Amino acid sequence: MSSTNFNYWPQVLDYLRSKIPGSNFTAWFSGLEFKGLNNEGRKIVLTAPSDFHKKYIEKKFNVELRESINKFYPKVIHLEIKIKEGERGAKKQVQDALDLKVAEQRKISQTEVDIENDKEKIASYLPRKNLNNLNPKYTFENFVITKSNEFTVNLAKGVVVELGTLYNPLFIHSPVGLGKTHLIQAVGHAVLEKNPSLNIKYVPSDTFFNQFYLALTKGETHKFRDFYSSVDLLLVDDIQFIGGKEGFQNQLFHIFNLLHQENKQIIFTSDRNPKDLIGVEDRLVSRFEWGMVTDIQKPDQNDILLILNDKLKRAGIILKDEQANLIAEKVNDNIRELEGVINKIKAVLSTEIDKELSQRGLLKILEPYLDQKTDSKLAYDTKKINPEKVMDAVCKVYMVEKDDILGSNRKAAVAEARQVCFWIMKQELGMSFPMIGKSFGGRDHSTIIHGVKKLQKMIDNRENNINTKIGLIKQIFQN
Ligand code: ADP
Ligand code: MG
Repeated sequence: MSSTNFNYWPQVLDYLRSKIPGSNFTAWFSGLEFKGLNNEGRKIVLTAPSDFHKKYIEKKFNVELRESINKFYPKVIHLEIKIKEGERGAKKQVQDALDLKVAEQRKISQTEVDIENDKEKIASYLPRKNLNNLNPKYTFENFVITKSNEFTVNLAKGVVVELGTLYNPLFIHSPVGLGKTHLIQAVGHAVLEKNPSLNIKYVPSDTFFNQFYLALTKGETHKFRDFYSSVDLLLVDDIQFIGGKEGFQNQLFHIFNLLHQENKQIIFTSDRNPKDLIGVEDRLVSRFEWGMVTDIQKPDQNDILLILNDKLKRAGIILKDEQANLIAEKVNDNIRELEGVINKIKAVLSTEIDKELSQRGLLKILEPYLDQKTDSKLAYDTKKINPEKVMDAVCKVYMVEKDDILGSNRKAAVAEARQVCFWIMKQELGMSFPMIGKSFGGRDHSTIIHGVKKLQKMIDNRENNINTKIGLIKQIFQN
């Protein structure tokens, strides 16, 4: 350790005090000591009075601590908290127990810390700092491995073992409801378990964009960039929504490069292959493909049955084999829907005295699945969007009247707006050409095909700011 390390620790603590409310600060940071810098100033070494202090700080205040350190030690990337010498053994255990008691008495719970942080960061656009946004429900332990996801699960587990160096980025795509979000958050939990001091952020791409947008309006995009380029593991969900958001893509490009250079792991999910992303710059698409691109396939009935049985077991529900088979046969597009069915069964059973699901009860629950449903209905249900919403959003952005796009007005803006509707209904809602024709007052399906093709061409050639317009439209109807 270099003896020329200048000690800015008192300043770091002062800054930290301004971020963390009084009682929390005293409880957790008064015993934290600076030991020096390592690795040419890239690593800071601190000591904490107990293992409990160390873990609590790493879990709850990781981001604040890192930010405060970086303010005065901008070169620091790694943070190591050791346990203070001489505090180990019996003394430490006593200390831990006392700390735990104090924490419990004070009820320093995650929520309390969050609320306090919220108060301070009320006008802020960045995520609550001590949160990695991982949902505790999404772990490897309860992710059922099937033929349709096995390959991708193995890659994801590989990433946990060799974070940042094996597949970076890892890009996972699949249709909705097949476990992408669950899987990448499971990676987050597993990484955190191995190393609680790592800075992990999970962020859906629309939230990511909104944060960027707010940073932009405040003229602080550098802060946004610094925040995300200092993480160890960045999990960006549903990257398809960045289509058409050019300024944001530019920032993401820089963040990607900064993280990648430092071997910081990035994982993306998307509803489609990088190559099929619309309105995304080529240089980003090519980076998405740098590491490993993989997918989760549509589960077959056997896969669904495995997942169903696992979930039933966890819920303590016992069904007859033929009942489980019927569910697996009918609800096989999407695991989220399968969970919906299980929840309904749970609700019914909670009112039954003999705790057995009757065949009639099951058929009632499965009623929506017994009719042949179309893909598009699924899209409406899961994305909560419908043709009306799409038309409304398009009209807003193009500033045209709905009657005009439904009618035969041939003005350029109206015609383009109409074709955008066709295209979104096809691409996002999965509607068939004849169905789209029907929503447009019985237009012939060949008209719709022509319109969708024409718009696709505009998108590919980036004509008329079309990508930005579509980006805006999507933002409206997705909210
Ligand atoms: P996606 O992000 O691909 O839309 P999610 O990860 O949100 O899908 O999954 C939808 C739901 O299904 C979640 O509640 C998730 O826990 C569950 N799920 C998906 N795949 C599995 C699996 N293999 N094992 C257990 N649960 C799963
Ligand atoms: Mg998801």
